Amino acid sequence: MSTATLHPMTEHPMPGPGARPGPAPRPMPGGRPTPQWWRDAAGAFTWLTMLVVVALWVRNGGIQELATVGGGLMSLGRLLGLVASQLLLVQVLLMARIPFVERSYGQDELARRHRLVGFWSFNLMVAHLLLTWFGYAVQTRQGLWGTIVDLVANYPGILLAVAAVVALTMVTVTSIKVSRSALRYESWHLLHLYAYLGVGLAVPHQLWSGQDFVGNRPATVFWWTLYAAALGSVLVWRVGVPIARTLRHRLLVAEVRPEGRDATTVVVTGRDLDRLPAAAGQFFQWRFLDAPGASRAHPYSLSAAPDGRSLRITAAHLGDGSSALAQLTPGARVMIEGPYGRLHGGVRTRRKVLLIGAGIGITPMRALLEELPQAPGDVTLVYRAHAQDDVLFADELLALAGQRGARIFTVLGGRATSRESWLPGSAAHLSDTDALRHLVPDLADHDVYICGGPRWMDLVREAALAGGVPERNIHLERFAY
Ligand SMILES: Cc1cc2nc3c(=O)[nH]c(=O)nc-3n(C[C@H](O)[C@H](O)[C@H](O)COP(=O)(O)OP(=O)(O)OC[C@H]3O[C@@H](n4cnc5c(N)ncnc54)[C@H](O)[C@@H]3O)c2cc1C
Repeated sequence: MSTATLHPMTEHPMPGPGARPGPAPRPMPGGRPTPQWWRDAAGAFTWLTMLVVVALWVRNGGIQELATVGGGLMSLGRLLGLVASQLLLVQVLLMARIPFVERSYGQDELARRHRLVGFWSFNLMVAHLLLTWFGYAVQTRQGLWGTIVDLVANYPGILLAVAAVVALTMVTVTSIKVSRSALRYESWHLLHLYAYLGVGLAVPHQLWSGQDFVGNRPATVFWWTLYAAALGSVLVWRVGVPIARTLRHRLLVAEVRPEGRDATTVVVTGRDLDRLPAAAGQFFQWRFLDAPGASRAHPYSLSAAPDGRSLRITAAHLGDGSSALAQLTPGARVMIEGPYGRLHGGVRTRRKVLLIGAGIGITPMRALLEELPQAPGDVTLVYRAHAQDDVLFADELLALAGQRGARIFTVLGGRATSRESWLPGSAAHLSDTDALRHLVPDLADHDVYICGGPRWMDLVREAALAGGVPERNIHLERFAY
């Protein structure tokens, strides 16, 4: 296959075989390795805590109680309720921005797992409710309605648990795809915060009425530790650290400039930024305090490698928040949460790297191209854009590629209509994997970093897998949850 057959791809091989290596990479704190075992440890925590929950239930006579119908229903109901609570706390921990978890999984992956765990937790909670209700009715012979009255009147915390079910049902229903797409992101996010209320309201009935809790020391220690870990993590990493970082670094907008046809670049400076453990490829949640919409945080990736003096983002004008960036004025105060995400040099395990981005997904790729340690020929950047006019950072990319000896390809053209493909319609004669291999013949030896629209990213990922890149060497961050 020759380049000529790959009409939409324009190659800018820079600067040729005699390239000088770029300056030695700075040892950025954020560039530290992120070992695979961090990820495994976080996964193991979920299963291990679930095992402890089951073990405590067995130890408390859960199996023996299965001998009678009423007792069995109650006992199974209790087990499912306990697992539902454990998963609810895992859900909270998944979103608590714990740094090693963030760096290992990335926020999009965490959000997906949070969602999955959430639906399981909710279903188990409903099963717990029904089994306990029926089991109690069988045992007490009070009938279904009499049982409800008895439970609410005589067991402390049950009324609060009913309120918890209402809050968690609302959160779950608004998270189902159909209803979520009908809501604005902010409305959905606000409603979602009721999940914390749900967790809080569910605790008392477990503490006051839970058979596996009352008078059972190991269970008491275990559950208190789990609740404290969840609450502590949220307070430390979602509240404390962002406030402390914002106060410490005193970030201010230093420069605002238009980027391409429909994007804005914002440069922010502050104190001690060399102490901020951020790496190229990561993102922050940003609030620009002296501008309209300051109450809403928006996630934007760094579009330049952090240099210890400034942070830079570039945002496409998509809606109100991103368009408002163009109106920012230098001196505006900035609040940040982060850095977050796993699209950084720390997950790299191979010398060769393919950076592939589409549209505004080029922002973290540009920063990675700048920061990744590399010898000439190690890094290839593939940039998928609709048209030449949509290409951002063209001069910067060429200059960086020249300094570092990286290769850059732009892949231009409208979407393929005849098939799903990461390629443009004009490359319909190529398979997705062949095209990648054409650009990067030793594709299977690369770490592959992907960023772009969610479906486009899936297609690149599938092409890379088919091209022999192991799953663990594919790193991605979606710009949507
Ligand atoms: C990890 C990550 C990194 C990102 N990096 C960049 C970047 O470098 N450059 C860039 O241009 N865009 C980036 N985005 C996308 C950017 O955050 C959204 O385009 C922006 O928040 C839209 O806000 P808006 O008010 O302009 O538009 P809206 O009309 O409010 O939203 C447009 C779309 O953005 C989504 N969105 C809005 N707010 C959020 C939020 N707080 N979290 C997640 N999704 C949200 C909405 O679901 C909607 O689909 C990134 C997104 C994520 C999740």
